[in-house]
Amino acid sequence: MQIYWTKINKIIEETPEVKTFLLDCPEGYTWEEGAHIHLALEGFNAGDKPNRRLIRHMSISTLPNENSIGITTRIKEQCSEFKAILRNLDVGDEMAIFKTHSNVPLKREDKNVYLLSSGVGLATFRPLVLDYFERADNVNKIHSLNVDSSKDFLFTNIFESAPDKKFASQFVDNRKDYYEEVKNLAADKDGLFYVVGSDEFLVQNIEVLLEQGIKPDQIMLDKHARQLPEFLSSDLSI
Ligand SMILES: Cc1cc2nc3c(=O)[nH]c(=O)nc-3n(C[C@H](O)[C@H](O)[C@H](O)COP(=O)(O)OP(=O)(O)OC[C@H]3O[C@@H](n4cnc5c(N)ncnc54)[C@H](O)[C@@H]3O)c2cc1C
Repeated sequence: MQIYWTKINKIIEETPEVKTFLLDCPEGYTWEEGAHIHLALEGFNAGDKPNRRLIRHMSISTLPNENSIGITTRIKEQCSEFKAILRNLDVGDEMAIFKTHSNVPLKREDKNVYLLSSGVGLATFRPLVLDYFERADNVNKIHSLNVDSSKDFLFTNIFESAPDKKFASQFVDNRKDYYEEVKNLAADKDGLFYVVGSDEFLVQNIEVLLEQGIKPDQIMLDKHARQLPEFLSSDLSI
């Protein structure tokens, strides 16, 4: 396993609680849209075993042609040791990245694509949408629906409806409106439904989608193939 040490080149305050850390791209390092990495802080490998408290999975919120690895995360006042350290990092500080993998590349199957997310889950979808804007081949249209109770919605310059690009974006600030809208979107019985958020959020979305007649193979989760049966087994359907 190759560990890349890289430096922060910019920190963007997206909202009062959400920051994007832009990291230098190590030579020869690349990734697919929807990819995630293991992000580790200095000292994580100082002992015999890696210190898990200093490692988190993070999606890459940028595309390779943006020339930086973007990591977007919410740091609340009450936070983990990992986030507390992250909060105080500055441009020039180092981080390690390893194990890059995308579970949710954009499927180009001539279908309508629905991107369902909560909060910073939208970060996973940012590169999918940019990839679609650059090349819409074999994607009918994309519709994003994000729920964020903070009402400080993310990436609003990209997630802005653009009918000419066959792209629609909706933000809602409560779960009731969110699930009502999911039901409306699920009227498209042939669509592909990507879902990103907490496990509890995934379970609820899957329940609603299956209830509406969407099949498990139309639901894309940011989970490794071996974890999918846990979420998409037929036991979950009502
Ligand atoms: C494939 C994959 C991709 C992912 N991509 C991203 C991503 O792009 N961005 C991202 O942010 N996360 C992402 N995650 C989730 C990420 O790995 C972390 O699990 C998540 O950010 C929570 O971080 P944390 O454990 O450091 O906790 P925190 O975010 O610090 O805390 C989690 C919750 O617990 C509360 N809390 C924590 N500590 C305390 C305390 N001491 N007292 C009271 N309350 C406390 C916080 O207020 C918060 O509500 C991804 C996970 C996976 C599996």
